[in-house]
Order: sequence, then structure tokens, then C-alpha cells
Amino acid sequence: MHRSLTILATSLLLWLAAPTWAQEKPVIVTSFTVIDEWVQVIGGKGFEVVNLIPTRSETHGYQLSPHNARDLRRATLIVAMNPALEPWLAAWAQANQKTDSVLWLYPEGSPTQKNHLGGNPHVWTCPPDVRRMTGEIAARLAKVRPDWDTQSSYNQYVKEINKVDAELIRLFGDLGPDQRTFLSQHPNLEPFAEHYGLKVAGTILASGAAESADPSAHHFSMLLSLIRKERIRVVVTDAGQNDAFARRLTEDAGIPAPIALTFEYLEPAGQPGDTWASMMLLNGKRLHRALSQR
Ligand SMILES: [Zn+2]
Repeated sequence: MHRSLTILATSLLLWLAAPTWAQEKPVIVTSFTVIDEWVQVIGGKGFEVVNLIPTRSETHGYQLSPHNARDLRRATLIVAMNPALEPWLAAWAQANQKTDSVLWLYPEGSPTQKNHLGGNPHVWTCPPDVRRMTGEIAARLAKVRPDWDTQSSYNQYVKEINKVDAELIRLFGDLGPDQRTFLSQHPNLEPFAEHYGLKVAGTILASGAAESADPSAHHFSMLLSLIRKERIRVVVTDAGQNDAFARRLTEDAGIPAPIALTFEYLEPAGQPGDTWASMMLLNGKRLHRALSQR
């Protein structure tokens, strides 16, 4: 009698601690903060969303932890950008026969990819791409959980995307043709530049994954003459990454110090830039301010 009471009490406690509805939610794993926000906004409380790369961390050279691998194994759906941006995830999916569970928002060789110069995977900086990608998230989540409405939250989010886009179009619209060119730390801002009529004349690093490789003296003098030839005044670096090369470059060229932007991730909750919309506006305004100064 005593024993069965204990069992009853234990089961009651377990039931209270873990309501059954929480266990039934499909697990969606996202690769980095921007996609994490999209899935949470569109999926609402219908899904358990687990994000891999924490805020302010580097996406390109990320290494999966054992904890990450555990989350990936229990995922119904994994949402990521592009195998060139998250090669470590593509490798994991291949090795674990999970390629069918990955939704690549900007897949290699897709017709949309050809819309951008060189197929640059940083398309979350380009609102028309964001509309398409969040639409794909809504459709795929609806397949995972047909009883859950993702269309209304998607429709609502499109309004927010359009608001951000309109504000940035208005902002960059006042720049003259000689105020639209800049250099960046790694090739990430081409989709953004293309959409807002700006131009990335060159990059310090050849790829995002090459953070450790120091650019050569030859590359330094090439960028220096590019700055002079195109009368460039703005060099963008990635916040949190080594900017020594960029600083030397701006000093030698006699132009303003580099500006650090955070297009690669969302800030921790409660800080400016903690949503895709505020990240876009915050960085867009910083870039615009720098380009405006002549
Ligand atoms: Zn990048």
C-alpha cells in the first residue's frame, strides 16, 4: 500500500514536471540566430526550437559540440542556410543519413541562387530573399505539423520585412553615385549591396572560413590602390573579429577607421539588434552614416 502510494506520488510529480503536450512538440533545430528567430516567429509555440550557434559566434568555421549532435539526432527538421555557409552541418547530415531532414533555405545550385552574383550565401541581408525563405519555413513547418497554423504568422512577418525594406530603400536613396562603394572584411554584404544599389569593391578575406589566414602584403597594396582609385572612404569589419589588417589599411589610406557591423548574427535578447528587423535597421543605419560622410 505504502509502495503504490509512493509510485502514485512519483507519477503525479513527473506528470506535473513534464506535461504531455511538451513532449509531443516536434523538435526543430536551427543553425544560427537569424534562422532561430524566423522559426520561432513563424512556428510560435507549436514547436520546440533548438538553436546551434550561440549569438556573437562565428558561423563559417563552427564546430558541433556533443550536445549539438544530441539535439540534431532528435530533430524532426533542421533549418540552415547553405552548405557553403554551414559545411559542418552538411557533413554531419551526410554522415548520419539525415540529409532529408535538412531544409536548406538557399540550396546549392537552385534557380534563386543564380539571382545573386557568385551565389553568395549571406542572403538573409536581402529582404526579397527573406520573404521567400520565411515562406519556405512556413510551408515546411505546416507539413511537419498540419494541425498548426503557420500562414497567419508568416503573413504578419511579411509586413515587418516590407517595413524594414522600405525604410532602408528610403535611407540609401539619398546617397550620391560616389558614396555607394565600400570594402568589407569577408564576402558577406554582396546580396545587401546589390539590393540597395551599393557596391562592395573588394574584401579583406577571400572567404568567411579564412578568418585565421592573414591576408598577404600583395593583397594589402592591391586594396590600398583600390581605395585610392575608387575614392573609397568606408571599410566594414565583422564585429568581434580581428580588425588589425583593416585598421592598418584605413590608416595608410588616410580614411576614417573601419566600422564594425553585426550582419552575421542577432544580439542577445533585450539588446539592440536582437531581431532580424532591428539587426538590419541598426547595421543599415551605421553603414549609411559612414557612407554619407564625405
Ligand atoms: Zn559570413
